[in-house]
Amino acid sequence: MTVYAAPGTTGALIEFKPRYEHFIGGEWVKPAEGAYFENISPVNGKPFTEVARGTAADIDAASSAACDHFRYFASLIRAQEGSFTQLDEDTVAYHFQEPLGVVGQIIPWNFPLLMAVWKLAPALAAGNAVVLKPAEQTPTSILVLVELIADLLPAGVLNVVNGFGVEAGKPLASSNRIRKIAFTGETTTGRLILQYASNNIIPSTVELGGKSPNIVFESVADRRDSFYDKALEGFSLFAFNQGEVCTCPSRSLIQKSIYDTFLDDAIERTKLAKQGNPLDTETQVGAQASNDQLEKILSYIDIGKQEGAKLLLGGERVDLGGDLSEGYYVAPTIFEGQNRMRLFQEEIFGPVVAVTSFRDYDDAISIANDTLYGLGAGVWSRNGNEAYRAGRDIQAGRVWVNNYHAYPAGAAFGGYKSSGIGRENNKQALDHYQQTKNLLVSYSENPLGFF
Ligand code: NAD
Repeated sequence: MTVYAAPGTTGALIEFKPRYEHFIGGEWVKPAEGAYFENISPVNGKPFTEVARGTAADIDAASSAACDHFRYFASLIRAQEGSFTQLDEDTVAYHFQEPLGVVGQIIPWNFPLLMAVWKLAPALAAGNAVVLKPAEQTPTSILVLVELIADLLPAGVLNVVNGFGVEAGKPLASSNRIRKIAFTGETTTGRLILQYASNNIIPSTVELGGKSPNIVFESVADRRDSFYDKALEGFSLFAFNQGEVCTCPSRSLIQKSIYDTFLDDAIERTKLAKQGNPLDTETQVGAQASNDQLEKILSYIDIGKQEGAKLLLGGERVDLGGDLSEGYYVAPTIFEGQNRMRLFQEEIFGPVVAVTSFRDYDDAISIANDTLYGLGAGVWSRNGNEAYRAGRDIQAGRVWVNNYHAYPAGAAFGGYKSSGIGRENNKQALDHYQQTKNLLVSYSENPLGFF
């Protein structure tokens, strides 16, 4: 077991500066209006650095820096091949993939580094320049990443403006100087982003919320073997990253015939998750990202109780004592109830799972699809045909079959229904950062003969 020293204390592996600026045009730049905001550590509820607070003027400065440089990167993707088709004896259609120009990217607070890199890699590879706005709760890890990679990119290709949603995010998404906006965050904010983008008629991809069903068919319990254990682990992954995952398997659907035994075993399995200091390598469930998020989760636990859902595990804030006493810790929580409850329909974004049973295949699919969302889903079955059919029948962009929470770069990721538009990862992500130029060429010497 290793407990890493907290940043800012003796022996810490990472040292944060007392203050971070915007990164614009290859320079660390002070905010136009001179304001800064504190970045609070969820580990102990105390500030650990402060960050520049961006506004429209900073977005404008970053857009200018980015404009000058996208042509440079455009030349770097010559390895990508276009296509041509001979349409008739004299006519050829050539297709070229071109970068869009300056693109805006808005990042959420959960997995800030991963979410930033998912967006940056295809945007830069496709030859665009980027203005990126981290979430106000979690700018610092992205700024440390920028410190590490700043000298790899020509100045101005990557620009970071820190700040809050309405002050910095809105001017970015509404700017007529960007050629695309990519957003990850809540569905309600995503709706606003699409409105801003429609004013300038620019493409937008939005990766939004989810309420993912995780279906356990009865064949899972045919044997108490390693696969059974894998399915129990799949259930307990609702607490992975403290449930702050857009694809959190937050609705568990278990077939009636195995409901009691599987759920009992799943509760025991979930109790094994070790909650503690996120800087301890043994910890599996750490702190929620912010006090706001902590309060939101606790209020949903109350809502669940009021709706008549039965609390089977957890359901409270955890005080880890000592220096961690003020940290934002919630016990992994299991409720039993009905799919029409708010607990089953609304995204909580915490370590809370709502469990219900289903009779047969059709019942399972109908409950799974009875949601506004369509981001992720899990299917557990020893019957290949059943697993395949369920995977195809569930309306979600990513269905994990006999696994959960894997995110390989080669697999397309994105939402159906209110969970979003567009795909991240896979070569499909590159398409979102390119436009197609068609050159339609006639090699005939003869006029059309119309006039
Ligand atoms: P959020 O919508 O509150 O904020 C996301 C980002 O948008 C932040 O940078 C914020 O500053 C900015 N923002 C807020 N209001 C804005 C406005 N009016 N104009 C422009 N920008 C604005 O979301 P969040 O709470 O940071 O993130 C959690 C949400 O993200 C959850 O709903 C989760 O499901 C979703 N999420 C989705 C995926 C996915 O790939 N589908 C991945 C991770 C998180």
